[in-house]
Amino acid sequence: MKFEVTILGSSSATPIYNRNPTSQALNVNDRLYLIDCGEGTQQQMLRFDIKPSRIDHIFISHLHGDHYLGLVGLLSSMHLNGRKKELKLFGPGHLLEIINLQLKYSETTLQYPIEFTVTNTDKAEVIVDNEDVTVETIPLDHRIACTGFLFREKKRQRKLLKDKLEELQVPVQYYTSLKKGKDYIAEGGTVYKNDTLTIDSEQPKAYAYCSDTIFNPQYFQQINNVNLLYHEATFLHNMLDRAGETFHTTALQAAQIAAQTQAKKLLIGHFSARYKNLDELLDEAKSVFPATELAIEGKTFVIA
Ligand SMILES: [Zn+2]
Ligand SMILES: [Zn+2]
Repeated sequence: MKFEVTILGSSSATPIYNRNPTSQALNVNDRLYLIDCGEGTQQQMLRFDIKPSRIDHIFISHLHGDHYLGLVGLLSSMHLNGRKKELKLFGPGHLLEIINLQLKYSETTLQYPIEFTVTNTDKAEVIVDNEDVTVETIPLDHRIACTGFLFREKKRQRKLLKDKLEELQVPVQYYTSLKKGKDYIAEGGTVYKNDTLTIDSEQPKAYAYCSDTIFNPQYFQQINNVNLLYHEATFLHNMLDRAGETFHTTALQAAQIAAQTQAKKLLIGHFSARYKNLDELLDEAKSVFPATELAIEGKTFVIA
């Protein structure tokens, strides 16, 4: 099953040096989950072949412009392109008010329904639970209400040992129950234990998206042991005071969080406009947590 994230935007605050404000497309089993939608996201989707028709879920972390100013444009394009199927949208309560106001004064009625779910920063909540994933909000600590999102793959069915099944001439109609863990009883009454005919599927993986936040251990427990942790790293650690004033994290702190929560891998992004070259941010994070990569736009990271 596919579980990978493509970076569409990695800049904090403003577009600069060919970097765009935050957005990511998470591919789970060929369904796309869009996380944040900064200005320019539609152009980035065209550039990196991310099809809006495959997006049924959009998550907005908070209402700073660099995380949602591309949203109304995208919703509007979906409408113009004839979308009919429902879109599930998650974000702070006032987001719907903003969208409705824009639609109202352009006298637009979307051709497709939006199911809106309000996120809240008081406690973590499961906001999606389908056959592929669960999604939980991660309450973060930013200047305004902000949540991250934790995506957990669902455990898959057992995998069939095809050679073995062919050798024993197991009829195809038994495959479904074998995948569910049932034993196979042959016509003569011989019982074949399930674990001789199948193997367990891989352990489900997890992806934590921690957008704008100050270093605050309140959410560390929740993101323990994820396979991939995306964490904002707006500044170098010599800007710790500035990070504190603006409720952001430094590259060093992001790496400390990855180490402390035992992430397998760390992805840093939301880079300040003061850094044209990102090497220093990467080096700083790697000094604490070597398995760190930069959230470079257009790059796809497999969550493994
Ligand atoms: Zn931001
Ligand atoms: Zn922000």
